[in-house]
Amino acid sequence: MKQGNLYILSAPSGAGKSSLISALLQRSQGQEMMVSVSHTTRAPRPGEEDGVHYYFVSEQAFESLIEQGAFLEYARVFGGHYYGTSLPAIEQNLARGIDVFLDIDWQGAQQIRRRIPGVKSIFILPPSLTELERRLIGRGQDSAQIIAERMSKAMAEISHYDEYDYVVINDDFERALGDLQHILAAERLSLAYQQRQNADLIHQLLAK
Ligand code: 5GP
Repeated sequence: MKQGNLYILSAPSGAGKSSLISALLQRSQGQEMMVSVSHTTRAPRPGEEDGVHYYFVSEQAFESLIEQGAFLEYARVFGGHYYGTSLPAIEQNLARGIDVFLDIDWQGAQQIRRRIPGVKSIFILPPSLTELERRLIGRGQDSAQIIAERMSKAMAEISHYDEYDYVVINDDFERALGDLQHILAAERLSLAYQQRQNADLIHQLLAK
């Protein structure tokens, strides 16, 4: 049966994860892939749209979704805000053969691994802490205090890098993007994926 691959992508903020994911989707060369849209209780940033970047919901609405069992994983991530991945968006797309990326933190990654054994996870590292800080300051979005908080959060996130299947170092954007494309290409050649995608051919080859 045609079934897409599910990938977890985690990184400390400032490692360039969002730009890498956007470029990956733009250059997917016909391979269908999408990023799951999470729910969050944080406020939208300028330019962010409800239903596109996140589903922006109140704390009360999020907790009622938790009670309904709507989330595959959820966690309080940055600034005490809830973030969560809902089931329907992922399942429908995987069933249509579309690869789905979950842009989630290490806490969410741990929950997904428990619920979906075999899910592949990728961690993106910055080339250095100095560069990470430079990128966070360069965004011009946050105060010095928030940047200090983001740096300490980033170091906590990085400490979980060894729970992931793949590690990509984003020192050069094009190289890091190429690394991600190679990981996806290798996963599409894995035994489990080939058995699903080419079940008829394999059946014919083994018929006699
Ligand atoms: P931001 O507020 O900058 O959009 O995201 C902050 C962090 O929340 C990022 O590291 C991102 O990966 C993580 N995140 C986004 N959506 C989810 C989610 O659905 N679940 C979890 N566990 N983390 C998420």
